[in-house]
Amino acid sequence: MANEWITELRVLIDDGRLLTSPADCYSYSFDGSFGSYLPEAVVQAQSTEEVSNVLKLANQRNIPVYPRGQGTSMSGGPLPVKGGIVLDVSQWNERLDIYPEDMVAVVSPGVITSDIHEKANEHELMYPPDPSSSHVSTIAGNLAENSGGPRGLKYGVTKDYVIGLEVVTPEGNIIRTGGRTIKNVTGYDLTKLIIGSEGMLGVITEATLKLIPKPASVRTLMVTFDTLVEAGGAISELLTSNIFPSKMELMDQASLQAVEQYSAAGLPTDVEALILIELDGHPLALEEEIQQTVTLCRQLGARDISVPEKPEEAKKLWEARKQVSPAIVQWKPTKVAEDITVPRSKIPDMCERLIDIRKRYQLHLVVFGHAGDGNLHPNIICDKRDHEEMQRVEQAVEEIFQSAVQLGGTLSGEHGIGTMKSPFMEMELGQTGIDMMKRIKQAWDPKDILNPGKMFPEPGQKLVLRDD
Ligand SMILES: Cc1cc2nc3c(=O)[nH]c(=O)nc-3n(C[C@H](O)[C@H](O)[C@H](O)COP(=O)(O)OP(=O)(O)OC[C@H]3O[C@@H](n4cnc5c(N)ncnc54)[C@H](O)[C@@H]3O)c2cc1C
Repeated sequence: MANEWITELRVLIDDGRLLTSPADCYSYSFDGSFGSYLPEAVVQAQSTEEVSNVLKLANQRNIPVYPRGQGTSMSGGPLPVKGGIVLDVSQWNERLDIYPEDMVAVVSPGVITSDIHEKANEHELMYPPDPSSSHVSTIAGNLAENSGGPRGLKYGVTKDYVIGLEVVTPEGNIIRTGGRTIKNVTGYDLTKLIIGSEGMLGVITEATLKLIPKPASVRTLMVTFDTLVEAGGAISELLTSNIFPSKMELMDQASLQAVEQYSAAGLPTDVEALILIELDGHPLALEEEIQQTVTLCRQLGARDISVPEKPEEAKKLWEARKQVSPAIVQWKPTKVAEDITVPRSKIPDMCERLIDIRKRYQLHLVVFGHAGDGNLHPNIICDKRDHEEMQRVEQAVEEIFQSAVQLGGTLSGEHGIGTMKSPFMEMELGQTGIDMMKRIKQAWDPKDILNPGKMFPEPGQKLVLRDD
């Protein structure tokens, strides 16, 4: 009985950090995606021992446990779809230690990612992964989703900067993976297995992150194009021209208009596409690379190119890019955010297909994203109370996924599968591919306690976005 296990939880967790009333649990029903599911209890964990005890109890009583950071997931990752306990680590942020001599950071799970950026910066070091949500999302959420961001183009994603973890297994045992060394091939790489496992294989309670020297200099270019396909083509060309930008972000006309209406940043709104480019490195080398990039962009049909001289001007442009996601929901209340990724050479083809899908389904489809690494964010702005519109959205989403996979791409570059993309897993992996993943899950979590109802499709499951 529910009451019985909640009584047992009270013995394990301090009163103020165990929430059980529907009103207190309500805000844990949502994340940054779709749907709402009320948990029976929320534990605001603050130690490895507490997490271990909760998981041991959950195993004895067969109660689902849903790890959660700040709930900014775009794929339904922390949603308690089968009730049970939400295990919130967002209050657990006591440790953020930088060890400059080893060039590592050791962090508690609830540390906010941008706090790691700031602390590393104080030591002239850099933690490169920079999801656009870095000012709110936790490192645990980033690790579980293997988050990326604009800098992924040159520096890679979260998994490339994690060298050690402390993890509580679904059965409540505590393990350490990797360590503080840059090289480590002792046994299977469990660190990499846990990163991106979406909270289904273990609860991360501490991480050791690799840091790198901060680049000596950084410059930004803003380049506009008359058409989205031209911009896509320019991105592909630039990437094969021996210039290696640290960021290359795309915004289509709808994104530009939304940002300007939301909080004016002086972006042009009369062009179909804008690319923000960041180059970093030695200042002398950068001057030459900027000249090369400007020349190449002109040859590729750019309408306007500007290179801000002052860091504050460049910062303003990057802040405007971060505003796209919140800005686009001013038009309609529902946002279906996708993050398909295609090989870089296929960016123009994917742009063409998105334009076609937008026209055929008559939807408000906005395109922006970390286009330099092929990761586009087609976002459909709609109203979930409008059944007819949502039916068109469901069909459009399916076509977006089909197009990405046909072009040699993937369903998700960084947001994860969660509840939102599980119906499409077979399209990319095939049944045997899914079965091999299920076997790993079964070995780690025989009772399916940790984050059940995610990633693997139920038989015949389809994407349903209509509110019934
Ligand atoms: C405006 C906006 C912009 C975004 N931009 C980006 C972007 O540029 N790049 C990107 O990759 N993502 C982006 N995201 C998505 C989201 O921010 C990331 O997925 C982020 O990593 C989630 O962190 P969180 O703390 O909110 O975790 P949550 O959303 O709470 O959880 C995410 C997943 O992590 C699991 N989890 C949480 N804590 C633990 C733990 N201790 N152990 C094991 N599993 C755990 C959860 O079960 C869930 O599956 C964006 C989201 C928003 C709203």
